[in-house]
Amino acid sequence: MTQPDTVDLVILGGGSGGYAAALRASELGMTVVMVEKDKVGGTCLHRGCIPTKALLHSAETVDVIKEAAQFGVNGTFESVDMAAVNAYKGKVVEGLFKGLTGLVASRKIEVVQGTGKLVSPTAVEVDGRLIEANHVLLATGSVPRSLPGLDIDHVSVVTSDDALAFDGIPESVVILGAGAIGCEFASVWSSFGAEVTIVEALPHLVPLEEESSSKLLERAFRKRGIKQELGVRFSKVEKTEEGIRVHLESGKTIDAELLLVAVGRGPVSEGLGYEQVGVEVERGFVKVDAYCQTSVPTISAVGDLIPTLQLAHVGFAEGILVAERLAGLPVTPLDYDGVPRVTYSHPEVASVGITAKQATDRGYDVIEVTYDLAGNGKARILGTAGAVKVIAQRDGPVLGVHMVGERVGELIAEAQLITNWEALPAEVAQLIHPHPTMSEAVGEAHLALAGKPLHSHS
Ligand SMILES: Cc1cc2nc3c(=O)[nH]c(=O)nc-3n(C[C@H](O)[C@H](O)[C@H](O)COP(=O)(O)OP(=O)(O)OC[C@H]3O[C@@H](n4cnc5c(N)ncnc54)[C@H](O)[C@@H]3O)c2cc1C
Repeated sequence: MTQPDTVDLVILGGGSGGYAAALRASELGMTVVMVEKDKVGGTCLHRGCIPTKALLHSAETVDVIKEAAQFGVNGTFESVDMAAVNAYKGKVVEGLFKGLTGLVASRKIEVVQGTGKLVSPTAVEVDGRLIEANHVLLATGSVPRSLPGLDIDHVSVVTSDDALAFDGIPESVVILGAGAIGCEFASVWSSFGAEVTIVEALPHLVPLEEESSSKLLERAFRKRGIKQELGVRFSKVEKTEEGIRVHLESGKTIDAELLLVAVGRGPVSEGLGYEQVGVEVERGFVKVDAYCQTSVPTISAVGDLIPTLQLAHVGFAEGILVAERLAGLPVTPLDYDGVPRVTYSHPEVASVGITAKQATDRGYDVIEVTYDLAGNGKARILGTAGAVKVIAQRDGPVLGVHMVGERVGELIAEAQLITNWEALPAEVAQLIHPHPTMSEAVGEAHLALAGKPLHSHS
């Protein structure tokens, strides 16, 4: 295929944000070149969402076998074969990668393999080739971050990238950071038999979640034997014969084989010509307006590179928004409060909308109901504990839904419709939920909020 000298859109980075923009732009008739230095699919497909969820599924299988006796099934857990786990994980990733590359090719998007650099408001250079475009999209994503003075050696002090490539299971591990990535690895390794300690400077696990969700996860993790050092800061790590010794500012030390650093991800923007071309950057993040346009009118930016929620589905949505804006379609800024968030640990934590504290801070008169999963038939059958908490404006719509329990990640889709459509609790209470399902807990919480609780103890 011969490309025109100037294409409509050149995209730097083929991760969730970049490839979503590419697919939508080509669907809308634009000519697109996407520059990718590694593999199309980016972090999410190769080092993030997908491989971690495959590991979590293997971990869940271990738990099912170990807990089988409570369901009257006798079975013995033997061992985890990490080579086989990795083969399964690799097969899932490879299958999706094949599908994605096929899709990209079928939409006539040219993928240029190489490290690109922004060289003007309308051009990217890759290995000496200049690609000119009417518009440039920056989508170079993010990489694991560390703390000052904390050297990652990729052997005993590692990142999530390293952890996903392990061919063994550590006997003991300290996880620094209790966000989604830290909690998911804690969950996996604990199921696989490792002794796990999470260290978090803030007072709770998943600290951005509703506090009651954090507390439920902390309780569930404690029951699973996952140790937690919360509200305490890391001071330093030293190497020992067996691995590492982590020092906390409280004076406490923890010895383990491994330290996983999961303190967040930093944007990939250095040395790529962004600032030289006039793109405003703050702490490495590219600054954008509500339509993902940078300070240079011909340049947009999406995904983990901009200071919005670092989630694959946010990258998809931002990529689509940019493609549609460039094609001249009417677009609406994203409502970031309305983005569903899931931590896929055992148990899962899922939320959408705002927390009770945010609602109060924003001046809402708030009412809330917490429906305990102990009252839900399917939760009892599965043997999962947790809750669904719904926050609403008094005499107004639902503002947030916060859940903990097995499989609640699948329930957040309904909660998303409720919050984003600004449904009233009484309207949701009209909807019939199938019995017995976990989704009934969402229905029950809204029935209670609408003043007509069914299976709720007041
Ligand atoms: C362990 C882990 C688990 C996660 N789990 C989830 C989850 O369950 N759900 C969820 O929604 N999100 C999850 N995420 C976050 C998700 O992966 C990211 O939000 C998403 O990948 C961001 O997409 P992006 O396109 O902005 O960046 P990326 O996916 O990082 O893609 C950027 C791409 O740009 C390329 N690139 C960079 N610089 C250049 C250059 N100069 N030239 C050419 N190419 C370049 C990179 O190679 C990369 O492919 C997880 C992340 C991690 C690390």
